[in-house]
Amino acid sequence: MMTSESPTSDGGLVLRFWGVRGSTPVSGSSYAEFGGSTPCLEVRCGDRMFLIDAGSGLYNCGQHHRDALPKQVDLLFSHLHLDHTSGLPFFKPAIFDAERTLNTYCGNLDGASAEEALGRLFAPPLFPVTLDVLPCTMRHHGFRAGEPLTFPDGTRVDTILLNHPQGSVGYRFEHGGKRLCVISDIEHTDPWPDPALLDFVRDADLMVYDGMFTDCEYPTCRGWGHSTWQKGVELAKAAGVKALAIIHLHPCHSDTLLHSVEADMQAEMPSAFIARERQSVLVGAPVEVPTVAPRPSEAIEPLALARIA
Ligand SMILES: [Zn+2]
Ligand SMILES: [Zn+2]
Repeated sequence: MMTSESPTSDGGLVLRFWGVRGSTPVSGSSYAEFGGSTPCLEVRCGDRMFLIDAGSGLYNCGQHHRDALPKQVDLLFSHLHLDHTSGLPFFKPAIFDAERTLNTYCGNLDGASAEEALGRLFAPPLFPVTLDVLPCTMRHHGFRAGEPLTFPDGTRVDTILLNHPQGSVGYRFEHGGKRLCVISDIEHTDPWPDPALLDFVRDADLMVYDGMFTDCEYPTCRGWGHSTWQKGVELAKAAGVKALAIIHLHPCHSDTLLHSVEADMQAEMPSAFIARERQSVLVGAPVEVPTVAPRPSEAIEPLALARIA
């Protein structure tokens, strides 16, 4: 909700990264710090929760919150490519709760919802279980990117169409006087920055941006639908964005390489950083980059596994 409360009165505008890797999950010691799960972001406007994308990071999000998730979960898709949807059937225990409703919002298909596309993906022979047999209620909403989303409780989220194969949706949240923009997946255009995008992200306290490539790598990846951290910095500076977080990290980019990229980026914009999986950020406050910590072990649920397999 757009409110004027102080950011400290209700917890403020908080972003948590559950998956920051692009295209495909990766694992191994080379990815211990930045993480290997594909995109899933949690946004809290005070008590109000949104999820953006259902990449493989959605699994850890579900395991972390378990029954503390709200009864109505609003999942905003940037788009439906596999790295943004593959975690959906593993959003446990939420999807096994008959009293929970999962609302999906899809804005890159000319007003169509995600229902038909997800129905094709999560069905035999590609997947043994169809989504409609899961105990939770799923409601799929379609909109056109560019239209604001207004929710039954009055909360408003602004949207913009991004340049990506089949399109993608950028989101803008405002709460407690703070502004957060999530801009992924996107390929930058020439000229850059795009004027409509510049207006959309103007004066954001934090912009999350698709920095899959470096400027050196980009010429061989042109047309693949992704951008570079350098274009993110360019956009952020032109728009007066206060802090920048890079996501959709390339599966080949190890922790070592990303540290060096982050140092290069911070030489140009000190408040820019590369997002770490599980990192939590209070939008508008100084960003603390977490040190590498051992991950908590995850509980295995034999019943749930049996129902999915
Ligand atoms: Zn992607
Ligand atoms: Zn994509």
